[in-house]
Amino acid sequence: MVTEPRGAPGGSKPDSDLPPGLYLVATPIGNLGDITLRALETLRAADLIACEDTRTTSVLLAHYGIDRPTTAYHEHNAERARPRLIELLRQGGRVALVSDAGTPLISDPGYKLVAAALEAGIAVTTCPGPSAVIAALSLAGLPTDRFLMVGFLPPRAAARRTTLQSLKAIEATLIVLEAPHRLAESLADMATILGPRPAAVARELTKRFEEVRRAPLDALAAHYREAGAPKGEIVVVIGPPLEAAPALDDAAIDERLGTLLASHRVGEAAAVLAAETGLPRRMLYARALKLAVKAEE
Ligand code: SAM
Repeated sequence: MVTEPRGAPGGSKPDSDLPPGLYLVATPIGNLGDITLRALETLRAADLIACEDTRTTSVLLAHYGIDRPTTAYHEHNAERARPRLIELLRQGGRVALVSDAGTPLISDPGYKLVAAALEAGIAVTTCPGPSAVIAALSLAGLPTDRFLMVGFLPPRAAARRTTLQSLKAIEATLIVLEAPHRLAESLADMATILGPRPAAVARELTKRFEEVRRAPLDALAAHYREAGAPKGEIVVVIGPPLEAAPALDDAAIDERLGTLLASHRVGEAAAVLAAETGLPRRMLYARALKLAVKAEE
């Protein structure tokens, strides 16, 4: 349902009519153009903008000529800052909460502030917009009907592997945030523990060097092991567990490879069938190569 915008440009109410309450305002994940009109009007009308990092948000505010007071609200000062924000809200203030990028609360601070505001009977609303999580999911080319946002995996290998074990049976696409310097080892653990699933590494979304690399987990692990740590920000999207593939005999393997070779290169055809069946990619590559050579004779 579409409703009359509150405090939006072209709306019937001027900025100062923005009702009291806490506004969760999504901000760009890279491209400064990715912000809604209502988000901008809300920031312009807020009494106070609570930022994960005031310096980061000041760039966005300067870009749009917004001059409103800001304050820090992040994991290290939240316990102290929260009561002051709640007090301002109780007095009828309009507080906008933003994170450095994307949607506040999604792997970012804000959950306890929202809970405290609701507990105090304060109106809480959202100016929805970008999120790296949804952007990556929508670009991955993987099932979107059911997904689990895992967030960051533990940095230490043992804890990371335990977490991956706990995710293995979940019948959903998994979304993992990962740091560039841990990407290769993390993908290798994913490939070992989750098995041969199709996946995508989405990097620098909406920015100049946006890239989405789609391949089975083991191929992605091999790529980043060789290429080294990529630059920028990364989301890994992993397809749900593959249904137990029916056992294929050699003729069926060659038939499927033949179909794939009509539109894929040899390595890609082998990778796709490996992801579909869990069969060893090296063996499939050798068969696909033979078929391709035969077809050229
Ligand atoms: N709340 C944010 C959101 O909704 O997008 C996510 C915050 S989380 C702390 C930051 C992580 O999101 C980064 O480390 C990276 O994994 C991912 N991320 C943020 N911006 C991104 C971008 N432009 N491209 C790819 N991943 C991005």
